[in-house]
Amino acid sequence: MAGNWKMNLNHFEANLLVQKLAASLSEQQLTDVEVAVLPPFTDLRTVQTAVDGDKLLIEYGAQDISRHKSGAYTGEIAGSMLEKLGCTYVLAGHSERREYHNEGDEIVNAKVKAAFASGLTPILCVGEGLDIREAAGHCPHCVSQLDAGLAGLKPEQVKQIVIAYEPVWAIGTGKTATPEDAQEVCGALRVRLVEKYGDEIGNAVRILYGGSVKAANIAAIMAQPDVDGALVGGASLDAEEFASIARFR
Ligand code: PEP
Repeated sequence: MAGNWKMNLNHFEANLLVQKLAASLSEQQLTDVEVAVLPPFTDLRTVQTAVDGDKLLIEYGAQDISRHKSGAYTGEIAGSMLEKLGCTYVLAGHSERREYHNEGDEIVNAKVKAAFASGLTPILCVGEGLDIREAAGHCPHCVSQLDAGLAGLKPEQVKQIVIAYEPVWAIGTGKTATPEDAQEVCGALRVRLVEKYGDEIGNAVRILYGGSVKAANIAAIMAQPDVDGALVGGASLDAEEFASIARFR
């Protein structure tokens, strides 16, 4: 279960949230659920200190990564910098990056590769806009984003990657895809992974659903055979709510 904080919370607030989250999680036996938070860059050091200092069972990562290694790229953050901060994960191709920063499939693929080059696990986001959904093009669209995002990766990298299916029309809108909608696309992604990389790898890849996930709808989403977890935006800013999502059963 990964919480995308987006552009919310300063480092004081980040510390508070991560401590509260750890406290809520430790009230439950969550041995088989991995919980990760994806704070803004400016919070990563604080989150690292809290997680390492108090041995919290929370992973963390970043919301974006530069495709470049280092150099004259003002405002960008390199994978090696994230690695040094102890990040495990990094998002690549979130729809807000694709839309507001014109990140196309080629850039997303370069970011996925940059993540692996720094020992990070990318969470590759795919998803269709409302127009594509209404024209019933959602499965081919997402499969094509998947193919492009994974281009040139080694099979062992594909096995490690996390895919997040996030229909753009369901992000931050309160409109959740039905569990069957989520399964339809996650299933198509799984079929493609198995087709291209074989059963072992295709079935090992974790596929998340994201888009207005809450404690109230997570159980039905997680009951779908090809949904292995969730990428949670708004609801991850509330420790109790996010902990309830992690305890979805
Ligand atoms: C997201 O930003 O990845 C997301 C799924 O947001 P929300 O849960 O708020 O729809």
